[in-house]
Amino acid sequence: MTNSKFDVIVIGSGIGGLVTATQLAKKGAKVLVLEKYLIPGGSAGYFEREGYRFDVGASMMFGFGSQGTTNLLTRALGSVDQHIETIPDSVQIHYHLPDNLEVKTHKNYDQFLQELNAIFPHEKTGIKKFYDECWDVFKCLNVMDLLSLEEPKYLARVFFQHPLACLGLVKYLPQNVGDIARRYISDPKLLKFIDMECYCWSVVPAEKTPMINAGMVFSDRHYGGINYPKGGVGQIALKLVEGLEKYGGQIQYGARVTQIITEDNQAVGVKLANGQEYRAKRIVSNATRWDTFEKLLPPEKMPKKEQKWQGRYQKSPSFLSLHLGVEGNVLKEGTECHHILLENWEKMEAEEGTIFVSIPTLLDPTLAPENYHIIHAFTPSWINTYNELSPKEYEEKKEEAAGRVIERLEAIFPGLDAGLDYMEVGTPRTHRRFLGRDDGTYGPIPRRKLPGLLTMPFNRTPLKGLYCVGDSTFPGQGVNAVAFSGFACGHRVAVDLGF
Ligand SMILES: Cc1cc2nc3c(=O)[nH]c(=O)nc-3n(C[C@H](O)[C@H](O)[C@H](O)COP(=O)(O)OP(=O)(O)OC[C@H]3O[C@@H](n4cnc5c(N)ncnc54)[C@H](O)[C@@H]3O)c2cc1C
Repeated sequence: MTNSKFDVIVIGSGIGGLVTATQLAKKGAKVLVLEKYLIPGGSAGYFEREGYRFDVGASMMFGFGSQGTTNLLTRALGSVDQHIETIPDSVQIHYHLPDNLEVKTHKNYDQFLQELNAIFPHEKTGIKKFYDECWDVFKCLNVMDLLSLEEPKYLARVFFQHPLACLGLVKYLPQNVGDIARRYISDPKLLKFIDMECYCWSVVPAEKTPMINAGMVFSDRHYGGINYPKGGVGQIALKLVEGLEKYGGQIQYGARVTQIITEDNQAVGVKLANGQEYRAKRIVSNATRWDTFEKLLPPEKMPKKEQKWQGRYQKSPSFLSLHLGVEGNVLKEGTECHHILLENWEKMEAEEGTIFVSIPTLLDPTLAPENYHIIHAFTPSWINTYNELSPKEYEEKKEEAAGRVIERLEAIFPGLDAGLDYMEVGTPRTHRRFLGRDDGTYGPIPRRKLPGLLTMPFNRTPLKGLYCVGDSTFPGQGVNAVAFSGFACGHRVAVDLGF
């Protein structure tokens, strides 16, 4: 059966897809979101087990500030009359690094600098110059409406309103963090720390991390701050869906798109796993580029431009995720919400190298039964490690890997193993299955050093009528980043449709 009453179909209800959908619905477009899973949010979704509410992935939230223009989650929700109460976090990350390097990235910028200066007194000037330059990038971004950089009229307007900020961004667009850090800093251990500051969200070291993204992350944590949504990260997607429906948009769950229908080299509709077809004037894919161009479209017809992109970017690893429920006494008073643990610099990028930890119940205790906490610990892992195993082998491998992670976490949370109340382990296979992401990847990473963000694609694609949104588009991974992509995509599609 074919149904063609929609202006726009969005494949997937990740934050990128939902921001696109809400922006378009608000402008009056008839929007249908098709989500293969039972709830919205994708990597920023949630699940409940035995009284615990776990965040699927993301829990360190940027974009919930109240001023400037980079507070894109606040803005995305507000534009469809939604609001989420948030709880501020006074420290972004507590790093536990090799050679007993312990650093906390305090919300207060001066306090953060003081902490680094105390460890690297000989680099005091360089530290300030480096992080101040990140602020320069942020200040350029934080004065302008962040919309589609593919829309000439908007670009002209923004340039006219903020010429210096625009020139600043043009200057930083092709630059990476490593080059700028090395301009001011020479201590190898401090440069390693900056590598980790980048790796923990870009999953590549400073040399390959675009300066634009670093400008956002290294500054907004001190400006808008890190704020946790009350009730869990899943609230963001739920509220966006509420806003979507309020403005006449629709969402269907359990609706797995298996094909993007094309006619005369133009995307005109989608086909679902149950055979149902829908048509719309524009199709937006919130699936990864690999899923979009290799599964939803015939791979042998992949546009040249897309092939070229794949030559520059590869899939990052996925994660091994431990979702733990633990007794409250496992965590000492003053424990921070987010931690990073690495014992050997050589292993930073290795499988099961860096361990990321989130304990959202330190901010919102309602996510667990009284006197218990949630710990989400995750570490990079490749799909090949878990492929082609019998169910028994798979379970054993998962359990062994979880054991290794818990043993290492005992160094920062002594008594963790003894205090375990609940454990669920996800592998790259779990990420692939539940998030619909090829090989469970976290997203694209550069194959080699590239000119900053210059080669990251925007929302339009070489296939007429098809747009992409989410972390395989500019400016990349992260919930606030995909919200940016959603604003840009919604804007570009709205202009193309005359809204
Ligand atoms: C373990 C982990 C921890 C993270 N931590 C943080 C953090 O602390 N802070 C932060 O900012 N970011 C974090 N991130 C990154 C962040 O979560 C993602 O970059 C972001 O949520 C991706 O959003 P997206 O819009 O690109 O799409 P996704 O979240 O990938 O959502 C895509 C949606 O599309 C659906 N879909 C896919 N294919 C189809 C299809 N064929 N038919 C129908 N539906 C389909 C999927 O089911 C999914 O719901 C983390 C990610 C992970 C995995």
